[in-house]
Amino acid sequence: MSASTTLVWLRRDLRLADNPALHAAIAGGGPVVPVFVWGDAPGPWSTGAAARWWLYHSLRALDADLRGRGSRLVVMRGPAVAALAALARRCDAGHLHCSRTLDPDEPSATRLRQALSKAGAPIGVTVHDAGLLFGPPFPTTAEGRPYHVFTPFWRGCQAAGPPPRPQPAPSRLAPCPGQAGGMTPDEVRAEAVPPWSAGFADSRPGEAGAHDRLGDFVAGALARYAEDRDRPDLDGTSLLSPHLHFGEISARAVWHAIDDTLNGGGGSEAFLRQLVWREFAHHLLLEHPRTTSEPLRPAFARFPWNDDPEALAAWQQGRTGYPIVDAGMRQLWQTGWMHNRVRLVCASLLCKHLLIPWQHGARWFWETLLDADLADNTLGWQWVAGSGADAAPYFRIFNPVSQGRRYDPAGAYVRRWVPELAALPDAVIHAPWEAPASVRRSAGVQLIEPGEAAALAAGRTGAQPLDDGCYPEPFIDHALARRRALDAFATMKERAGA
Ligand SMILES: Cc1cc2nc3c(=O)[nH]c(=O)nc-3n(C[C@H](O)[C@H](O)[C@H](O)COP(=O)(O)OP(=O)(O)OC[C@H]3O[C@@H](n4cnc5c(N)ncnc54)[C@H](O)[C@@H]3O)c2cc1C
Repeated sequence: MSASTTLVWLRRDLRLADNPALHAAIAGGGPVVPVFVWGDAPGPWSTGAAARWWLYHSLRALDADLRGRGSRLVVMRGPAVAALAALARRCDAGHLHCSRTLDPDEPSATRLRQALSKAGAPIGVTVHDAGLLFGPPFPTTAEGRPYHVFTPFWRGCQAAGPPPRPQPAPSRLAPCPGQAGGMTPDEVRAEAVPPWSAGFADSRPGEAGAHDRLGDFVAGALARYAEDRDRPDLDGTSLLSPHLHFGEISARAVWHAIDDTLNGGGGSEAFLRQLVWREFAHHLLLEHPRTTSEPLRPAFARFPWNDDPEALAAWQQGRTGYPIVDAGMRQLWQTGWMHNRVRLVCASLLCKHLLIPWQHGARWFWETLLDADLADNTLGWQWVAGSGADAAPYFRIFNPVSQGRRYDPAGAYVRRWVPELAALPDAVIHAPWEAPASVRRSAGVQLIEPGEAAALAAGRTGAQPLDDGCYPEPFIDHALARRRALDAFATMKERAGA
């Protein structure tokens, strides 16, 4: 008797190498149907607009890779259970393999099997772990409790020993049965390309792009990662985040490529530690699934936030008057990526200077980041707001001018993304209002009130320069904002009775 057909449901493991679900499906010996469900989980955190662009291109690359090995990718329209059940019936499949996403509302293997059976496809289900290095289950404290502070978590991961080595990609797959059907690439494309995506084209979604990116990083910036990773004016980081989010490369493959290259040297420790922040983020979200929208520290539910749509629009559109922040917000809009140091400064300005709820910032990032990842984004925002586990202390309020001067010392990053300031001297590029009027004039910079800037930007959604060399004065003075934020924190403590 020949082996029955197996579905392999690819989700955030869009790769052929080191993919346990795919390997298990092939090992079954029968025909294999690789399937992706487009729009599998409708809800507040369905894939954001920019990330959908990445996903579309990644699916195309995966389809090409599968075709190169004798198969193809079937793309079905969600919701997932109905789509998978229909496909299983059509192909007479007996089993489904998939990898966990670790999203908070993800069904277990048992629930998925029951749901498929209820939908008319009584098939076996196996769920694999392929996305992370050290869990789940993640290392725990000596008392068996989950870690809430990063450094001990990192030590716990180190004590667990290196993760398993990655498995190679299969060289051939059995042909995908003809009756599988699926959406056409054009149907997917129509739902995947936001109007502002022209600048995303420098990225190369897909497994081959991920491995090339890793190779370039290992051969180049890795050696100076510890020194350069905080410098947005340099190409000092790996840019692997969207590849890792969509699982085009496994974290294990990244870990071993780095560790083998530097043989445990100092540079590799700095990078691997950063990679483990991603583990920590997923570990925290598993422990605290509501933190995508609620503060992890309950006291922050009483924080006197200032829901100010005008200030939020100024931040989103890169016209806060703080050049490093505006540069970051424009880099995000135009390329779908922002440097980590600048994410911290931009997020801090929103939560602490403008007192806007962090959830609004997280939502904007969700729609505009190519690497939008529920666990990493939630961790980043809660960390900056001070409301998360192991968060920055509330009184650490980034000064956007000194952050700019420290991490973009000659202003190259600001000049690139805020071209209207490009001719200012280095000394004032991070604080144009400090330049004498004559210096501003000869640099072609005209400072305007935030209200005038809002009028010039009326009707826009994204972040781009204002007209005619106009640049706003800061939306709020740093010293004043700092005092206001500390007062707000004191009010929260009073309200919470702490
Ligand atoms: C407010 C805020 C929101 C963020 N939102 C996201 C998000 O939605 N998706 C996302 O992937 N990252 C997010 N980050 C984390 C970090 O900014 C990005 O992972 C990093 O900038 C990606 O660039 P890279 O790949 O060149 O990083 P590298 O420095 O080369 O690091 C390698 C990998 O390690 C992981 N990593 C590095 N730093 C962090 C970190 N602080 N937290 C978690 N993982 C990390 C990423 O997977 C990254 O690709 C956020 C950070 C902040 C402060």
